[in-house]
Amino acid sequence: MGNGMAVIIDGTKISQDVRGEIRGEALRLKDDRGVVPGLAVILVGDDPASHIYVARKEKACAEVGFLSREYKLPGDTGEAQILDIVGQLNADDTIHGILVQLPLPRHINPDSVINAIDPKKDVDGFHPLNVGRLLTGNPFHTSCTPSGILELLDRYEIDIQGREAVIVGRSNIVGKPLALMLLARHATVTVCHTRTRNLPEVTRRADILVAAAGSSEMITGDMVKDGAVVIDVGISRLPAGKLVGDVAFDQVSEKASYITPVPGGVGPMTIAMLLKNTLHAAKNFT
Ligand code: NDP
Repeated sequence: MGNGMAVIIDGTKISQDVRGEIRGEALRLKDDRGVVPGLAVILVGDDPASHIYVARKEKACAEVGFLSREYKLPGDTGEAQILDIVGQLNADDTIHGILVQLPLPRHINPDSVINAIDPKKDVDGFHPLNVGRLLTGNPFHTSCTPSGILELLDRYEIDIQGREAVIVGRSNIVGKPLALMLLARHATVTVCHTRTRNLPEVTRRADILVAAAGSSEMITGDMVKDGAVVIDVGISRLPAGKLVGDVAFDQVSEKASYITPVPGGVGPMTIAMLLKNTLHAAKNFT
């Protein structure tokens, strides 16, 4: 491949397909067992981006026939009160998924809140038990963005086994869980970060290159091997207002075999995977 032939991976379309399947399964679950999947979202404070994400999740739930419940709490809400709500939701049979929108205000320890969520209802896959299960090869709920990336690779029938996967970024929500998922699928995985020496040399080894650094257009054409599959997780807004990823799309699409655009690539998959985890919890724990 190469020569400007990259197939553009259509995350918007795949996410619609996945949500259509989830809707069908939710209808069957209701018919067969009278169970309606329920997702509760806790949002603390008035971060505008967080409010947009929560509104999207609410809308996505409605579209697939899930129940959704929002707790929009003021920024000065105490940790004890949040833990109290989490406790009530853990005990609530109509709620199968609990999500705490991050970031939380500084006076609240996110780990305390995440640790309080029943792991069976931890549809973000952030609870240490779910992280540990992924690590030991017995996953239950897995982090949504990396799961969405695997779903894209699978639906485009892109081979993972035996291939060199290089991930730029080692966060707990994207880079690290993705590394474990690709390893479980028998890729040879390298994880890069800000202390990685000679990053271009490492990224050029990749058959599958995932950029999850949050640094606009840092992956340039010279960092990519001909024919590589390039997945762009980053989302940044340039001063002029344009949304871009971590990948310099025009240059890299000249060399890649497959590439995800920003927007319309990985982004739409994250909510689809959240719905999938919620459905999974409703099916297995009611
Ligand atoms: P974090 O800031 O938590 O982590 C970024 C990681 O990238 C760190 O490990 C950091 O290294 C590494 N990194 C940053 N700059 C460089 C660089 N120049 N060279 C090498 N490594 C670098 O980010 P997240 O994982 O939360 O998110 C990453 C991006 O993905 C963001 O743009 C975010 O907006 C986007 N995102 C998109 C989602 C979606 O649904 N599409 C969902 C989640 C995130 P170090 O550890 O050394 O600091």
